[in-house]
Amino acid sequence: MPKEKIEQEMEDLEEIKEETAEKKAESKEKTIMDLPGVGAATATKMAEAGYSTLLSVAVATVGEIVELTGVSEAVGRKMIQAARSSLDMGFVSGEEVLRKRALVERISTGSKVFDNILGGGVETRAITEIFAEFGSGKTQIGHLLAVNTQLMKNEKNPVAVYIDTENTFRPERIVQLAKGAGLEPQQVLKQIKVARAYNSDHQLLLAERVEELIKSQGLNVKLVVVDSLTSHFRAEFIGRGTLAERQQKLNKHMHALLRLADTYNLSVYVTNQVMARPDVFFGDPTQAIGGHVVAHSSTYRVYLRKGKKGSRVAKLIDSPSMPDAECNFIIETDGIKDVQ
Ligand code: ADP
Ligand code: MG
Repeated sequence: MPKEKIEQEMEDLEEIKEETAEKKAESKEKTIMDLPGVGAATATKMAEAGYSTLLSVAVATVGEIVELTGVSEAVGRKMIQAARSSLDMGFVSGEEVLRKRALVERISTGSKVFDNILGGGVETRAITEIFAEFGSGKTQIGHLLAVNTQLMKNEKNPVAVYIDTENTFRPERIVQLAKGAGLEPQQVLKQIKVARAYNSDHQLLLAERVEELIKSQGLNVKLVVVDSLTSHFRAEFIGRGTLAERQQKLNKHMHALLRLADTYNLSVYVTNQVMARPDVFFGDPTQAIGGHVVAHSSTYRVYLRKGKKGSRVAKLIDSPSMPDAECNFIIETDGIKDVQ
């Protein structure tokens, strides 16, 4: 795509963003500007760090706020307290939570054992993160989920959104996987909306634009893939001095994705790279990019690696309701299969 076109697209996206912000301002909801000590400058800073709503402040830790926005600990603490008391953060009955949870749906990976360790597939209202080295199958799983979104039982014309940052989306691969799932490939392709993200700003804007697809175009988006979540961030923010800025931006991105998942009962699947940890001599000497920000915002985290005879080993880590577990599967032309 020529540079002018990208710039034009970015401008359009900015416009949409501004309009949405204006609409929000009109509806007189309480905002972070209502918090003690938060003026326009601090509010901008906080929004940049991902704290654009009272809820995001209310659920943050003092340490996070201090690290990501640069306010003092005392101010951070006050802001959190004020946000908490201004929101109805009281108790709801377990029954009510259960009723909400009953709306949760799942997208199958195609492998029984893989679905099982995730509690039945990739969940809606959640972010599922896969972190792995290059060539492990992260992108393959993204393609597969985009196809299998069509297999959701209670959804009419479900749509998968694919935000592609590494130019690895392949419609040919979708065709193969669709055939493998017994679906009409052309129909599946129609239900997948792909956008190439050219840099991290573009990536954030595209994620925000998903809401437009749902609201203005009335699409029933059930899956958002961000493949890869971290590659632009890794490439653009080099050196220790830029770490805080990178983490702020990632935090904002993760908050936006989580809000989408929660508001529209959809699944978010993000892929993450690992970096070598030369200081680790025992165990696996790799670590996911994005640190605590990504780790804390992801609902399900799966570490993927190559296993014996071309198989893949997926390990579930830190799930809210599932035990840490491991499984084996194979990636084949027509889908993901259990190891026999
Ligand atoms: P990552 O995104 O983690 O870097 P990929 O998802 O691109 O990794 O995985 C690449 C691997 O997927 C290939 O090395 C190959 O093993 C497998 N793969 C890709 N395409 C096919 C296919 N058509 N049939 C079977 N396996 C495939
Ligand atoms: Mg990939």
